[in-house]
Amino acid sequence: MRAIYITHTGGPDVLTHTDIDAPTPKDNTHTDIDAPTPKDNEVVVQVDIAGVNFIDVYFREGIYHSPTPFVPGFEGTGRVIYDPQGEIAEGTVVAWCDAFGSYAEQVCVPRDRMVAVPESLEPHVAASMLLQGITAHYLTHGVYDLSEGDSCLITAGAGGVGLLATQMAASAGATVYSVVSSEEKVALAYEAGATEVFFYSDNLAEDVRRRNGGVGVDVVYDGVGKATFNESLEAVRPRGTVCLFGAASGPVDPIDPQVLNTHGSIFLTRPSIGAWTAREGEFAMRAQAVTRAVTSGELNVRVGAVYPLADAAAAHRDLEARVTTGSVVLQVS
Ligand code: NDP
Repeated sequence: MRAIYITHTGGPDVLTHTDIDAPTPKDNTHTDIDAPTPKDNEVVVQVDIAGVNFIDVYFREGIYHSPTPFVPGFEGTGRVIYDPQGEIAEGTVVAWCDAFGSYAEQVCVPRDRMVAVPESLEPHVAASMLLQGITAHYLTHGVYDLSEGDSCLITAGAGGVGLLATQMAASAGATVYSVVSSEEKVALAYEAGATEVFFYSDNLAEDVRRRNGGVGVDVVYDGVGKATFNESLEAVRPRGTVCLFGAASGPVDPIDPQVLNTHGSIFLTRPSIGAWTAREGEFAMRAQAVTRAVTSGELNVRVGAVYPLADAAAAHRDLEARVTTGSVVLQVS
């Protein structure tokens, strides 16, 4: 089957497209990818569109480990073609996240990690709403449950997670400070409901505090990591929460726990979507909340770029070059 596969980790060029019509390269790196075989708790899905996420970059680089060769990708939308338990009708349109190997024509999806897609939902939106939407949901309704009068700072505010977290925080009644890197992204962050948008700078925390009545914010949602972490510590109020949920600029250096004391007994957490969907019914609760909000128009998923599956390397290059906004998807079939 057609797929993107990785035989060794590295830069975007290691994303190799199987092309059954192409001659086998001399270096013998060409690999045929077999259609996957489902376990009992999985269904086989014909993938129409796959979502591209920063976590795919971490796997490609080897920061997160998978034995090689592997097919990357975690989410998408498509049609069920085989359910070993015979429960889900063939042709049912679903969206999923947490199905490793989604950059392919077929993938095995755990049955408890997918949702039915309402007919009215645009397929590119369905393909990219869950991983980033559930993340934004657990950040704003779990790690720190925002409500009226709270304030937060969101880094990479015009990215996939950033735009969704901004909308959820604003609709919870919070003041949202957003940080972005370009004028286009400033406009998108305001459109999503940000109260004030900043560019990255060494004075970020000071600027945010000034706008926030001279005090730090209740919570910082930092998916950028290395480049912003110190400003995140400075921007939070005493006893507030720094939620470091990603490392788009690289992993944060180890810190001395005493730093949390000197910043006023602050809380630091490094959450994962896995842990925040692990409880009984939790994935379904968050996935359905996201799907409902997207379907009703309350939550807008901006699909910033669509690439053919064969151009997955270009999609990764653009994501890492910070030129994408909102979500990014691969058209598989
Ligand atoms: P984005 O669409 O947000 O893309 C990443 C953004 O990070 C860029 O657009 C850019 O925005 C910003 N950025 C800042 N510095 C850099 C840099 N040096 N290199 C690249 N990008 C940089 O991606 P996602 O929405 O997929 O993910 C956002 C973050 O959330 C990632 O760190 C990801 O790992 C994390 N994440 C964590 C999850 C979890 O459960 N812990 C789940 C899902 C995502 P700008 O130019 O405005 O700075």
